[in-house]
Amino acid sequence: MRAIIYTRVSSDTSGRGRSVEEQESVCRQECDRAGWPVAEVLIDNDIGASRFSAKDRPAYRKLASTLAAGDVLVTWEASRAQRDLAAYVQLRDLCSERGVMWSYSGKLFDLSRGDDRFATGLDALLAEKEVDQIRDRVLRAHRANAAAGRPHGQIPYGYQAQRDPDTGRIEQRVPHPEQAPIVREIARRIIAGDSVRSIATDLNARGVPTAATSPSWRPGLMVQMIRRATYAGIRTHRGTSVPGTWEPLISQEDHRQLLAILSDPARVSHRGSKPTHLLTGIVRCGVCNEVMWRGKSNGASSYRCTENFCVSRLMDPVDLLVAEAIIARCAQVQSVDELEDPAVAAAAATARELRDRLEGFVDDAAEGRISRSAFMRIEQTLLPKIRAAERQAQAVVHPLVGELLGKNARTNWERMGIEERRTVVRALVSVKILKAPSGRGFRPEFVRVDWN
Ligand SMILES: [Zn+2]
Repeated sequence: MRAIIYTRVSSDTSGRGRSVEEQESVCRQECDRAGWPVAEVLIDNDIGASRFSAKDRPAYRKLASTLAAGDVLVTWEASRAQRDLAAYVQLRDLCSERGVMWSYSGKLFDLSRGDDRFATGLDALLAEKEVDQIRDRVLRAHRANAAAGRPHGQIPYGYQAQRDPDTGRIEQRVPHPEQAPIVREIARRIIAGDSVRSIATDLNARGVPTAATSPSWRPGLMVQMIRRATYAGIRTHRGTSVPGTWEPLISQEDHRQLLAILSDPARVSHRGSKPTHLLTGIVRCGVCNEVMWRGKSNGASSYRCTENFCVSRLMDPVDLLVAEAIIARCAQVQSVDELEDPAVAAAAATARELRDRLEGFVDDAAEGRISRSAFMRIEQTLLPKIRAAERQAQAVVHPLVGELLGKNARTNWERMGIEERRTVVRALVSVKILKAPSGRGFRPEFVRVDWN
């Protein structure tokens, strides 16, 4: 078997790229190990090429005339052997046509075999660099979609994806035949005065399938779900709302009514044993740093360091202080951009894109276009990347905070239920109760609010 080594001057600036000498040396070692005589070493330099094309790469063209059946093409790794997927496809097709084996990263692939074509394609798809590109591209698309009111991200319960039959890309979300009526039913019943708990019990008893994220209908999740503006056909993005392009499941008037009903304090009983105080388990003791819980002082609720009994403070003024601080801060911010780290937003977009991609492979596996074992391999490769991106995206501004920004901060805060307010508090601030001199009433300077 005759080996042709193909190396490329990397335009990669991330520091992961290798010089052509290094690439060649690794490839030669591989040839020695496998016992392939090296017939030729071809080097391309695509730095400065406006876009990838065969004409920008003389060595690539030479490759096309040199490679013959029985040869093996040796490259550094899939992601360095081509600048993008189109280039990968060219290289793959070339090997496949010529009956040439392809070796990289210590593995040998026979591209006439479906499994090997799949494996090399996957390696190319999953190259680090590609993930970076996805990130940038998705971020752009995400912004463009927001401006155009097109849906993005996970398909919410009640909708299903409508895909382009040619490309398989998600084009639009359309009402799901079974789930959409459930969304409408939940909305109708809440507006009619049914408790969320009773609706959840009923749906569970009827065996109505839930959104994939939860095995059964739970009141808290149902409230979160039904409050989503997306059901009223509203696209929210970075604190702004634009009309969406998809079909609403409930009217905007009903949506507003649902928000009003679900943030009515009289309904807190439907939240079961969830906390009903703004800062219990969140606020920390300024002396020992333990979280504080609810206590009673002369019949009034207070936050108390129940661990070491260091400090205690009346609850109402502390809640008021924290709420006012958050409202004031949010009212000054016009867009999420001011709070948001672009890298983190990009991570969120990457996570969504990778999840969508994984979903696409789920469809492929379900319809037999790829084998289940191939799917397992994809999943094993994609999931850690998704999780990493999601971890990074945790720091992204919470959508609830997005709702609070701007001049309607106070109104929107007042509309929120206690759980949502607690979520906002956790997202935005750290609160500490400092030791204060006794007597003299409430002293705000002994409550410390730090912005996260
Ligand atoms: Zn303490």
